[in-house]
Amino acid sequence: MKMYDVTAIVYEGMTVYKNKPEKQPKIRTATNGYVTESRIDMDLHTGTHVDAPLHMVNAGDTFESISLEKLVGKCKVLDLTAVEDRITRADLESFDLERGDFVLFKTKNSFEEAFSFEFIFLSEEGAEYVSELGVRGIGTDALGIERSQEGHPTHKKLFAAGVIVVEGLRLAEVPPGEYFLVAAPLKLVGTDAAPARVLLFEGLHSNLSIETE
Ligand SMILES: [Zn+2]
Repeated sequence: MKMYDVTAIVYEGMTVYKNKPEKQPKIRTATNGYVTESRIDMDLHTGTHVDAPLHMVNAGDTFESISLEKLVGKCKVLDLTAVEDRITRADLESFDLERGDFVLFKTKNSFEEAFSFEFIFLSEEGAEYVSELGVRGIGTDALGIERSQEGHPTHKKLFAAGVIVVEGLRLAEVPPGEYFLVAAPLKLVGTDAAPARVLLFEGLHSNLSIETE
């Protein structure tokens, strides 16, 4: 069985949204000669992470409202590498998407190492389409699911429909198709996002049922 780690590597100097210095993780290592302990100071939207509604909605739900069950299960990686500028409804309609799907958008973004101010994003009508369809979640290989849209309608549409948003995936090595997704965010409480390790398993996309206590 093949496993793909689609998580961005976290280090000082990594690619961050709009190259903002305050988005860089700060890692401080202290040692007293025999014990070494480090601390990290990091924006929760740096690198691969899961957004919570609070990110774009005043008094929106915080991170613990996202159940882990929804972040584990079958997913579809869509080939959107030919898309320019933004993912539209028409781009998505050409795939066989169903209610409950978790869909990951593989675009040109996955092949760029540096931050691109022209990154491919999900248009408002694209967000409307997946919301109407009732997908469980979407994942993007951009550090944001939208750009240049006044009022952030893409985020708001998705959050209003309860669609989970994962950002900052690295999908260059992943062929489009079906996978078993394990997105495991830090178990934070009260926050607007959480960094996550995201893994895709090939050949494990049967209907494995996940039970939690
Ligand atoms: Zn975010």
